[in-house]
Parts: sequence; C-alpha cells; structure tokens
Amino acid sequence: MKKLKKEKGIMTEEEYAKKDGMVCPVCHSRNISSDAIQTSDSELTADVSCLDCEATWTDSYKLSGYSNLTVMFSKPIVKSVKRFTKCLPKI
Ligand SMILES: [Zn+2]
Repeated sequence: MKKLKKEKGIMTEEEYAKKDGMVCPVCHSRNISSDAIQTSDSELTADVSCLDCEATWTDSYKLSGYSNLTVMFSKPIVKSVKRFTKCLPKI
C-alpha cells in the first residue's frame, strides 16, 4: 500500500471557495477548464481540470438561499370588515 503523500500547497475547500473556485487548488494556476454544471436535487456539480498540472476535481455548489422572489398567484386579499352591531339600549 502506497501512503498518500501530504503535499504542501494544496488548498483547503475553504481557501478554494474564497477564491471563488477560479484557481487550481493544487498549483494555484488560473488556467483551468470547467465542464457544464450538472444538477442534482440538493447541489450542482461541475467537473474541473487544471490545464497546467492536470489535476481534476469537482466543484460543488450548494443552495445558499433565494432572492428576487416573485409571487405569481396572489391570494385573495381578505379585507378586514368591521362589524358594527347595533346596541339596543337596555331597559
Ligand atoms: Zn494545477
């Protein structure tokens, strides 16, 4: 069994994400090529390769929230109707 050599300089996922995934995590080159994004239920992935050191990896994108919410079907607006009941004077 070959022991995996711990190489210096490989970025952690956090460091990679801070660079917006625009560099190779191994050699830090910007000469990288990304395939089309694949969609699955909870995340998007894209296979990426470095054209300089030939490393390959998969970018993953997780849902982080939503924006620009537009509601197409508006619920009927319930108008608040004040009811006035006639109070008969008590005798
Ligand atoms: Zn590289």
